[in-house]
Amino acid sequence: MGQTQNLEVGPSENTLAIIKPNAVKKNVAGKIISMWEDAGFYIQAIKKVWLMPHQARGFYREHEGKPFFEGLIEFMTSGPVYLLVLAAPGAVQRNRDLMGATDPAKAADGTIRKLFADSLTQNAVHGSDSLKSAEREISFFFNTFELP
Ligand code: GDP
Repeated sequence: MGQTQNLEVGPSENTLAIIKPNAVKKNVAGKIISMWEDAGFYIQAIKKVWLMPHQARGFYREHEGKPFFEGLIEFMTSGPVYLLVLAAPGAVQRNRDLMGATDPAKAADGTIRKLFADSLTQNAVHGSDSLKSAEREISFFFNTFELP
């Protein structure tokens, strides 16, 4: 009997996702969460917070000094966000695929950013870009009691 390939098989991994302030303000957080659920992600943890500048700066510290950094911090602290830990096999890459390109003008049809981004800065969602970033970003925002 031949082997069938099942993309769902494999160890589950966690990725950090953020629903950014522009998407929360547009009241489409539920629609975005449904897209993750429909794509097979399990919501491991979720909370709604309003980030303080030092938190946004710490989270995005790798971009400090870049021309868009101050605007990014101003935007990320302009209203509440949802922080989520999403679990699935291959969650990091699968969420990058579902989000679409950082620049919404380049995002593929059907991706979260194509549907809900307003600009390059206000691009609706964040998703960890590697397993190592996912570990750092999850522990930046969630403690062990929040990760059942
Ligand atoms: P991501 O991993 O796809 O979110 O992209 P990056 O880690 O490279 O950048 C973090 C966030 O900074 C992006 O999601 C955008 O909101 C913003 N950003 C990145 N590059 C640019 C840029 O060239 N211009 C502006 N205005 N914002 C940017």
